[in-house]
Amino acid sequence: CIPDRTNLCSNRILAAIPPDHHVDSSDNTLLSLETLSLGGYLSFHDNYHAAKDFGNTYHFLPLAVLHPKSVSDISSTIKYIFEMGSGSDLTVAARGHAHSLQGQAQAHQGIVINMESLEEPEMQVYTGELPYADVSGGHLWIDILHETLRHGLAPKSWTDYLYLTVGGTLSYAGISGQAFKHGPQIDNVYQLEVVTGKGEVVTCSENQNADLFHGVLGGLGQFGIITRARISLEPAPKMVKWIRVLYSDFSLFSKDQEYLLSSQNSFDYIEGFVMINRTGLLNNWRSSFNPKDPHQASQFSSDGRTLYCLEIAKYFYQGDPHPKNILMQKTERLLSELSYIPSTLFLSEVSYVEFLDRVHVSEKKLRAKGLWEVPHPWLNLFVPKSKIIKFNEEVFGNILTDATSGPILIYPVNTSKWSNKTSLVTPDEDIIYLVAFLSSAVPSSTGKDGLQHILNRNQKILDYCATNPLGIKQYLPHYSTREEWKAHFGPKWQAFLQRKSAYDPLAILAPGQRIFKKAK
Ligand code: FAD
Repeated sequence: CIPDRTNLCSNRILAAIPPDHHVDSSDNTLLSLETLSLGGYLSFHDNYHAAKDFGNTYHFLPLAVLHPKSVSDISSTIKYIFEMGSGSDLTVAARGHAHSLQGQAQAHQGIVINMESLEEPEMQVYTGELPYADVSGGHLWIDILHETLRHGLAPKSWTDYLYLTVGGTLSYAGISGQAFKHGPQIDNVYQLEVVTGKGEVVTCSENQNADLFHGVLGGLGQFGIITRARISLEPAPKMVKWIRVLYSDFSLFSKDQEYLLSSQNSFDYIEGFVMINRTGLLNNWRSSFNPKDPHQASQFSSDGRTLYCLEIAKYFYQGDPHPKNILMQKTERLLSELSYIPSTLFLSEVSYVEFLDRVHVSEKKLRAKGLWEVPHPWLNLFVPKSKIIKFNEEVFGNILTDATSGPILIYPVNTSKWSNKTSLVTPDEDIIYLVAFLSSAVPSSTGKDGLQHILNRNQKILDYCATNPLGIKQYLPHYSTREEWKAHFGPKWQAFLQRKSAYDPLAILAPGQRIFKKAK
């Protein structure tokens, strides 16, 4: 193993990278690819970065990386492969910011498209009654935030981390603490431009090519490459009151979360997380949060208990018709209805950008310690509300009893407000919980903080969910067999199959999801 490919030595290498891989000039496919007339370019050498992602456990080396300048570069490359028909086994993966976890943005011996090099469309913001932004599928959400704020506007629905591309999050859902109010990011898109698996460039929306539009949203990159998106905007908040409180009783915690979800004029953001066996917890918060009552807070001790943190935020706008103290009184009234441990009320006031970009602060700290580019065996689940108490008892009472490296998020969303026409699959209940085990593994450790131990623990959680059918669905799903995919999609499977045969009949796109295999 060479040093910068340390993780390629792990036992999860699926495709070894030949150390001196280079283009064989007798290879007709490559030669003919080189004849394509492109505004951007194809690179055939040193493409190791395209065999890496945030998960850092799956590594597939592509044959080439396309750095497109325009949509037509993407369309002509795919068209060319499509026209080769089943005579070629070339596949194509759009690579956004490669923050997926199990090689989903990779293409073994195929072509990876570096979406961030796409130069069109230039970002445009339209103000007016229904404001929106036209952005490229390769734009990062952080850049969209900064550009829209120049017009006093911002997207409504976010992810917790903003260094992700539009195409990348719209291929899943894009969920954060605003999704209870606005739906996930896929429900906040007016229009898309997509390059299908036949190389056709298609504009789609609710009213135009609606089947493709719904299919692509949450469609795991299976039906087309998103090259442009029209994102719905709202007036941007100026400041955010950011609040954390603790519970030791899960049923009180979840009751309060659900109460806030349904109350009028509630908060603008609702999330929560679990803390197992954490000492000095509140002291860690003090760098960014202030206790409401410092004396009481100093008396609080977690005593090794499992604690649940409710994290909520209230937005404030420039030119709010109500003075801030009136708005704060309303917030305090809402807080007074909750059953958290009184000494654990912590508050902070930050700008909207600081609030949305909060995970980047942690990223910088972890990078400085060399702890960002480690394996990330994440597991994300949607748990129906009716099963969350049972799930909590088993998972946080029996399976996961040690402190974990990485946060565990747990918060409800009301899917009754979400579109059910997209490809996203959720449990069939109006309120569901997102439970995200966002673990980091210590490279080459064989202990509790090692990759294998965490993967085994994830499997225990999945086994528990399967043997006591809880109606749970994976978010950012990862399966290895067709049967598992079929079960995942359930009643949506037939539509998924039909869309695949309509828009990507040769199964050229997004091979890293491992749902379909290109026929040869
Ligand atoms: P990539 O990893 O590059 O691609 C993911 C998949 O989408 C691949 O199959 C790829 O082929 C396909 N794809 C990429 N671009 C396109 C395109 N233009 N058209 C069609 N298909 C495309 N998710 C949430 O919902 N909420 C969160 O709060 C959240 N927080 C996160 C925090 C971190 C630190 C990380 C690493 C991930 C987080 N995620 C979250 C998950 C994230 O939304 C997905 O992993 C997303 O796919 C990442 O975007 P990306 O640009 O890196 O996509």
